[in-house]
Amino acid sequence: TSIKDNIQQEVKIIKRKLNGYVGFANLPKQWHRKSIRRGFSLNIMAVGEAGLGKATLINTLFNREILKKEVEVEEEQESSETVSVKIKNTTAEIDEDGVKLKLNVITAPGFGESVNNVNSWKIIVDEINSRFDSFLEAESRINRSTVNDERVHAFLYFIEPTGHSLRALDITLMKQVHEKVNLIPVIAKSDTLTGEEIAEFKQRILEDIKYQGIKTFQPLDFENDEEETVLNTKQILSKFPFAVVGSTKEVETPDGRIVRGRSYPWGVIEVDNEDHNDFIKLRQLLVRNFLEELKEHTANTLYENYRTEKLNRMGIAQDNTVFREFDPLAKQEEERALHEAKLAKMEAEMKAVFQQKVSEKEKKLQRSEADLFSRHKEMKDKLTKQIKLLEDKKVQLEKQKTLPQEPAASSPAPTKTRKGFLR
Ligand code: GDP
Repeated sequence: TSIKDNIQQEVKIIKRKLNGYVGFANLPKQWHRKSIRRGFSLNIMAVGEAGLGKATLINTLFNREILKKEVEVEEEQESSETVSVKIKNTTAEIDEDGVKLKLNVITAPGFGESVNNVNSWKIIVDEINSRFDSFLEAESRINRSTVNDERVHAFLYFIEPTGHSLRALDITLMKQVHEKVNLIPVIAKSDTLTGEEIAEFKQRILEDIKYQGIKTFQPLDFENDEEETVLNTKQILSKFPFAVVGSTKEVETPDGRIVRGRSYPWGVIEVDNEDHNDFIKLRQLLVRNFLEELKEHTANTLYENYRTEKLNRMGIAQDNTVFREFDPLAKQEEERALHEAKLAKMEAEMKAVFQQKVSEKEKKLQRSEADLFSRHKEMKDKLTKQIKLLEDKKVQLEKQKTLPQEPAASSPAPTKTRKGFLR
């Protein structure tokens, strides 16, 4: 009977293990593998006047030549009265230790160059909107497996290092985009200002931004992170608006180190030196610490707000048309029918998407159920085998025990016990 006890105990232990361990502790690993396979992506829009070092900064951030310098690229210069803003998209796939990042850099050559800059922000706003629209359209199609996210995830606005305060165009542009993008203002070419000038300039910019009600990117709920991360995030935020220096060139410092920087008769400004400028903090924000958060905030808040507003507007516009244009009853009826048909179509599409989702989910559930079932069966078979083995052993042991004394009466007893087990 002690063997029986042992077996029962073992069955209990195995059962407990099977019930207790669900497997979600493995999720981070799954997610990790999947992310590596899929790669990451980031869409950055870099806006500011020509010559403020946008191309250089982007190239410095990713340590390779992603953007060509505008001055070299631009063949024919238009006169300053007619310069129009254009949108340019540059993509690059970069790989770091096997991790792939698909980078989209959107620039707006011509911004701020015209004598009359009244509407130069419009093309930029249109571009942001049209990227939202493409996403909205793709999202509402039935087959959504290939939705490409081209929305702007981070918007770097380059402020001229005047040392005074923001210009009207800076404020207008930032006000036009701040609710559509994660706005990250940077003071361009900050090596042209002294430390003191930078501190004062930053102060004035922050005051202006606050006064104008302009929202800049803020990580959400970071206070709940680990202490060290919270500290780091606070340090990053304390550097807003980042005073940056860009350079992909290597120079030698007076003490003989080779660094990325800019060389002057009076010394070297190092890009990757936190005492010299805020480049490192900007890179931490964009890539190392908050890349995913920038994307999440774009998707969950900025895009969602845009979408809701757009759908509301469309609803109101449709209603107005119905009221204004269709006084005659027949036409009104016709329009209503059309409208209803449209709604029905939309509803059908939504239902189809919903059903597809449900069936996908069901399949997934079925799969995991089958998986569980087969694991359970496997375990059961194993146990049955074990029981059989132990039982045989027991029979043998008992045989051995009884054989020398009463060779004839050895068989009935084990059969009884076996019945007991198999019940
Ligand atoms: P973009 O037109 O804004 O893209 O500017 P570019 O990156 O083409 O740079 C314009 C010029 O400014 C080039 O001669 C760069 O070498 C220079 N430049 C770029 N970044 C900096 C910087 O941080 N400090 C200084 N002093 N010059 C810079």
